[in-house]
Amino acid sequence: MTADSTRLRSYAEGRWHDGTGALVPLIDPTTEVLLGHCPSGGLDFAAAFDYARRVGGPALARLSFAERAERIEAAVKVLHAHREVLIELSVECAGTTRGDAKFDIDGGLGTAQFYAGLGKTLGARRTLLDGDMVQLSRSPRYVGQHVLQSVPGLALHINAFNFPIWGLLEKAAPALIAGVPVVAKPAIPGGLLAYRAVELLVAADVLPPGALTVLFCEPDGLLGAVRAGDVVAFTGSSATGRKVRGHDAVLSGFVRVNVEADSVNAAVLDPDATDETTTLFAHEVVREMTQKAGQKCTAFRRVLVPESRLDEVQSDLTERLAAVKVGNPRSTGVTVGPLITAAQRDRARAGIAGLAASCRFVHGDGGSGALVDVEAGRGFFVGPTLLRAESVDTPRVHDDEVFGPVATLIPYSGDATAAAAAVARGQGGLCASVYSDDRDFVTTFVASAGPWLGRVNVGSEKIAPHGPGHGAVLPASIHGGPGRAGGGQELGGLRGLELYLQRTVVQGDRPMLERALGVTPG
Ligand code: NAP
Repeated sequence: MTADSTRLRSYAEGRWHDGTGALVPLIDPTTEVLLGHCPSGGLDFAAAFDYARRVGGPALARLSFAERAERIEAAVKVLHAHREVLIELSVECAGTTRGDAKFDIDGGLGTAQFYAGLGKTLGARRTLLDGDMVQLSRSPRYVGQHVLQSVPGLALHINAFNFPIWGLLEKAAPALIAGVPVVAKPAIPGGLLAYRAVELLVAADVLPPGALTVLFCEPDGLLGAVRAGDVVAFTGSSATGRKVRGHDAVLSGFVRVNVEADSVNAAVLDPDATDETTTLFAHEVVREMTQKAGQKCTAFRRVLVPESRLDEVQSDLTERLAAVKVGNPRSTGVTVGPLITAAQRDRARAGIAGLAASCRFVHGDGGSGALVDVEAGRGFFVGPTLLRAESVDTPRVHDDEVFGPVATLIPYSGDATAAAAAVARGQGGLCASVYSDDRDFVTTFVASAGPWLGRVNVGSEKIAPHGPGHGAVLPASIHGGPGRAGGGQELGGLRGLELYLQRTVVQGDRPMLERALGVTPG
């Protein structure tokens, strides 16, 4: 599919809007062919938000959790029927391999389907009961019942470029099932893919009116349209996350904000890990460096290896990386495509140069290296680049998230507490993986590093054939980490709905509350 001359439109107030202003070019990152444009502005955010609250909110409120879940399921079916078109578009506009495209698209569809399943289990209710009634005074009549109800406003979802489909769906599905209309602002890079998905959903008319608004534009002025009762869920860099949190309208409206930001994720190898576990570790390090060309918020940036095993691990990893084919993601055997834009390539190279000031290259150097099936001088490529730090105290290794196929080997003493302390120097992360078969090592590591992380993945010989590994964000587990990772939390089964629900305790006469809240008399 070639999308030349596509001009992204926005879907708001129940119709398509062309947008105006400077046109941002959308470029195939492999060939640098122009695919289309995104108008930078010209949208009436206040009117779009008002429609979502006024039309989308009540339309969703009329439906039960189960009925909303059915709409999500219908949306998943629509997109799934066009999965192949979406995969091809991802290859074209985001430079992903087919495998990486499926990671985004199937991951998004799977997550939405998971939430549809959960929503159905909540049945015909519109309010969730949170725990049992509690007696609040000497009289058994005076009780309190905690309830969870849809927040009164809308959910503004600001998404990162690297998961155009997963990012849209993993946020929209829980919000819509919770009964909250969604205003999504996908990132412009990769926006063609999100745009096509929205076109399909609008044409299929599976969602209630006003439930989904999608704005393809630059973000100026967007946050100014939020107000009390709304929720903002942001995914992107820490720098933008800070701007979102500190925005006047967010502060003055006391708007609930969830930030999913960047993270200097770590892999930790136990000195006594078995051969099988060490192989799993090496396999996952290479996969995390290369999948989506390292443009994953969960990708390893730090690889902590016991000093005693550093040379052995380095030679294993460099041998594996030497076998990786970088180039045109349409070509068989290529597993690493380009970064999504020239700006991202330049940012990654600047980050690599920053690390190289204190680390040495052991594979790659931030250049593109030999490319398969790419016209000379074309494409936004960065070849897999592995650096080696002298010690855990080497500057920048715990601070810089280089958003590309880049990681740094860091020696540590081999002690689990020391590994945890090194991980903690990332100041809060999305996830770390520890590769160990030793319960004591894992216990010590989790006890010390756990509070700095949203997720700890334990890779071991026994789990190697069974789990999807470090990088997969699974909807039944929470996603999001403390500190610089943004402090946000998404997914995690029903927990994922809570961002969009207000917990209120209703106190009063037991029989009255039982009737009013639909509590089965106990
Ligand atoms: P970004 O530059 O921070 O942009 C993220 C989104 O914010 C985009 O939609 C962007 O719009 C928008 N935006 C930019 N400035 C804004 C402002 N002042 N107000 C409101 N919105 C604004 O991040 P990115 O380059 O797209 O994504 C890469 C980063 O995201 C990486 O650091 C990665 O670690 C992080 N990430 C985190 C997670 C997670 O779950 N924790 C997941 C994926 C990615 P435009 O595109 O129009 O500029």
